Amino acid sequence: MSATILVVEDEHAVARGVQYALQQEGYAVTVARSGEEGLDFASHQAPDLVILDVRLPGMDGFEVLRRLRQTGSKAPVLFLTARDDEVDKVIGLELGADDYLTKPFGLRELMSRIKALLRRAYGDLADAAGGRVIRHRDLLVDLERRRVQRGQRRVSLTATEFEILRHLASRPGRVYSRRELLELIRDYEALDQDEKTINVHVSHLREKLEDDPAQPAFILTVRGAGYAFAER
Ligand code: CA
Repeated sequence: MSATILVVEDEHAVARGVQYALQQEGYAVTVARSGEEGLDFASHQAPDLVILDVRLPGMDGFEVLRRLRQTGSKAPVLFLTARDDEVDKVIGLELGADDYLTKPFGLRELMSRIKALLRRAYGDLADAAGGRVIRHRDLLVDLERRRVQRGQRRVSLTATEFEILRHLASRPGRVYSRRELLELIRDYEALDQDEKTINVHVSHLREKLEDDPAQPAFILTVRGAGYAFAER
């Protein structure tokens, strides 16, 4: 799973071009045609980055950003502007826009800005856009380097904890029984462990990952069945 980018742009041709280019780079892309639509998506899906056109029908891009920040979103925002006076406004505003591009822009330029913004916001892990990094909200699981991060905070896991997280997070929504998880981690654990061992590992994982381990947002309990990683 790669970074999710929300594109808020009412001009069909621009939106399509940007969407295609981003998808080619391995990003998951959602296009919203208005600010209202964009905010609605952002409130449910927490995009990793937002590309925001200034001039939109109804609510303009500045207002969209203001409301986005009010909801607590810290996703980097790249403004698309059409005129110099808009650029002045973007620079002058203290809304927390991270960068801007003036139309017309080249897709290669757009791509390098996006990569820089993701790297700045999420650290080195954002370099791998192609699926070796699993992301959910601000949780990043780097499968190659076996590293886990929440926002800028590194999370230190045991080998067994990492394996459980890796299996669960690789297939969000898929329910794994305790027996199944025990099978999957057997290289890391003595074979005579029973299924309750899994409960202990999951409880440790939650203490390390979740804001409130009693109300997990990442590793969910499916009653009578096992555990599943939260779907986006
Ligand atoms: Ca527009």
